[in-house]
Amino acid sequence: MSKVIFVIGANATGKSYFIKERYNKQNIIILDVFDYQQRAYDAEGYGENDAISFYARYRCLMFANLQLLSDILKNVKNGQDVVVEQTFYKAKRRISFIDEIRKTADVSIEVYVMFPSDKVWESNLKKRNCAYTMENMKKEAENIEFPNPSEGFDAIYEVIDGAIKLRMNKPTPEIVEPAREEIKKERQEFADKEEKRLQRKELMASMETRPFWHYCEVCGKKKYMTAQQAYEEGWDYPPRMEKFGLLGPRKCGDCRLTDTLFWKINTEQKIPVVIDKTLSNRELQIWNRIKNEPESLLNKEKIK
Ligand SMILES: [Zn+2]
Repeated sequence: MSKVIFVIGANATGKSYFIKERYNKQNIIILDVFDYQQRAYDAEGYGENDAISFYARYRCLMFANLQLLSDILKNVKNGQDVVVEQTFYKAKRRISFIDEIRKTADVSIEVYVMFPSDKVWESNLKKRNCAYTMENMKKEAENIEFPNPSEGFDAIYEVIDGAIKLRMNKPTPEIVEPAREEIKKERQEFADKEEKRLQRKELMASMETRPFWHYCEVCGKKKYMTAQQAYEEGWDYPPRMEKFGLLGPRKCGDCRLTDTLFWKINTEQKIPVVIDKTLSNRELQIWNRIKNEPESLLNKEKIK
């Protein structure tokens, strides 16, 4: 019977070191969630110091987890032992992995939870030169739900400064079903969101070539044409100039930048932010159209 071993814990608790010391020379595959996260960020083109939106980060972590799970399953199917380095704070995430693994192969599943003493932890943090303080780390560690046999583990060990102790708490079978439900819901929501995101991405890409309505906010001219045509006619319009959905000039080649809402907001106000209640009806119409781009440019506006 092959084995799946999880080594979990907060940052700088010595997971990698523990794995290296214990398993490096064995015929065992070592998978590290951090590598998967790195690959997910790379695939989306994020560098180390880039600002990443909350959802983009969530998406990368989701992809990393799914890819890691898929690699675990591939290995256990081939009868291969696997060690997995994970943070895995929440019981529901562990349950979702264990359920899939048990469905795939007859394996034994163990988990080692890293709980170093403050002294060792602090020295690990120092060695890594990381920005986290001990206080940060302890706060984060409070989020760790200690693994329970009911999650599906055959053995649960606590590791304190290298000393390994079996710790099988009293089973809590009541946590399992709600956790499965929660994960199922979460995955469905993620899939729905991803579908919407990809549709929007496709729409944005199509705006480069498809014709759409161009509205001059100054003289009121409107024309259904491609971005290329508009560019050749001297229009200031996304996607060639500025960005869809963000305040910028929307005008034909005959009109002046200084007559746009963009100009007004940027020169007449202390802070260049649009405040709806200060706009005239005409300006509000322009602003609503911009806010709702590119969808607002696909069909001809109905005259109110
Ligand atoms: Zn014009």
